[in-house]
Amino acid sequence: MNAPQRIPALQIEPDFRERARHALGDSQLRGNFRRAMDSLMVKRAAAFSDADEREDLRELGNAIRARALSKLPELLEQLESNLIRNGVKVHWAETVEEANAIVLSIVEQHGARQLIKGKSMVSEEMEMNHFLGERGIECLEADMGEYIVQMDHEKPSHIIMPAIHKNATQVGQLFHDTLGVDFTTDVDQLIQTGRRVLRQKFFEADIGVSGVNFAVAETGTLLLVENEGNGRMVTSVPPVHIAVTGIEKVVENLRDTVPLLSLLTRSSLGIPITTYVNMISGPRKAHELDGPQEVHLVLLDNGRSQAFADSELRQSLNCIRCGACMNHCPVYTRVGGHTYGEVYPGPIGKIITPHMAGLARVPDHPSASSLCGACGEVCPVKIPIPALLRRLREENVKAPDSPNPVMRDQGRKYSRKERFIWNAWRLLNTSPTLYRVFGFFATRLRGLLPGDIGPWTQHHSKPRPAARSLHELAREHQARHKESAR
Ligand code: SF4
Repeated sequence: MNAPQRIPALQIEPDFRERARHALGDSQLRGNFRRAMDSLMVKRAAAFSDADEREDLRELGNAIRARALSKLPELLEQLESNLIRNGVKVHWAETVEEANAIVLSIVEQHGARQLIKGKSMVSEEMEMNHFLGERGIECLEADMGEYIVQMDHEKPSHIIMPAIHKNATQVGQLFHDTLGVDFTTDVDQLIQTGRRVLRQKFFEADIGVSGVNFAVAETGTLLLVENEGNGRMVTSVPPVHIAVTGIEKVVENLRDTVPLLSLLTRSSLGIPITTYVNMISGPRKAHELDGPQEVHLVLLDNGRSQAFADSELRQSLNCIRCGACMNHCPVYTRVGGHTYGEVYPGPIGKIITPHMAGLARVPDHPSASSLCGACGEVCPVKIPIPALLRRLREENVKAPDSPNPVMRDQGRKYSRKERFIWNAWRLLNTSPTLYRVFGFFATRLRGLLPGDIGPWTQHHSKPRPAARSLHELAREHQARHKESAR
């Protein structure tokens, strides 16, 4: 089969609004997202067909996460001592620089040149591949979606399905160009090709790197879910395993992981459970035939303590990274993950990124939401995402007063034009006389409104004041009522 012309990868524009404009004009990208998100929404709805059971489970999920966070420092200490007892080496990193330095020191101790990595959003936060690549160390992604985006020099566009922005034609073309295989759009064949390449790499790698879904304090167990088997391979084939995770992933005991796993897999992919549930409890023991000889855990803070210290924003640490808020977000599903320009896109990303990187870096993020509330309704651990977004919007303009030091003095603040408009709006809505005068003219001069009133009307129809104001209609109604009562 002849290969069609290669569809170029999404261009990364420097600014959120520019990237959004670009994405909205890319019909291929929008189609890819629309199809994928529609299918995920249907699957999630089917997986939670019993609304009462779903709500009870969400309550339970919220309670488990809130309990874990309420004793986060103690649980982290318990986790550390149990992991050490199990033979795992535990490292603490306040920043991504520290986390990368820890990984590099382990790599150097072992003279490692090749790493293979399962899907890990924390390693994306660290930009681990780039950091190691600059030092001549290969770090190959083993998750199929991550493998595809790495091959195309892109970033993941979704936290669960990194290559969801690409369709089979684009992947077939990429494999053809990069691996020299025949072009195909047959998904099974594409997966087989990827697996063939990766299988060899698992055996060549000096170190395997993985993320962690839940770290169980009571037993010192690292729990990792996946569907492709790459997680099991990276954590058991190479002689050294490095797990990287955020400090908020700790849960109290193994019992707590059962409802959380059910919520995670049903909310993300609409499946009852993943194909693989890996429980890593230490390096290979003397009598065991396989497994790594050395296991390390890097616990990363990177702004999480800051969020933890804030009683409202702390709720964002409940996140179990299921991606459901993205799949249901009318903004994310239209502009796609790359538009956000950060590791965590979509509704939860707009809350996590400001407290990791500061509002000044992502001033448009809290406003890039319709506040429709879908994200909060589907979140399996009941994070009040719309309320937190509203809070960040407020901080964006009142940043000097923020109780959160990361936000303080960082907000975008209103421009003079915006200040003028909002002050006029407030005046209009707090003065009955002004409001009546405005209403009188707005209804009579409505035909004079210009056709184009800025970028808003590019994607919305122009607002058209009603011919009669509500007050006028109410007065008329009252007069008619009095008349008929006589
Ligand atoms: S905020 Fe909720 S819905 Fe969004 S990824 Fe996290 S757990 Fe899932």
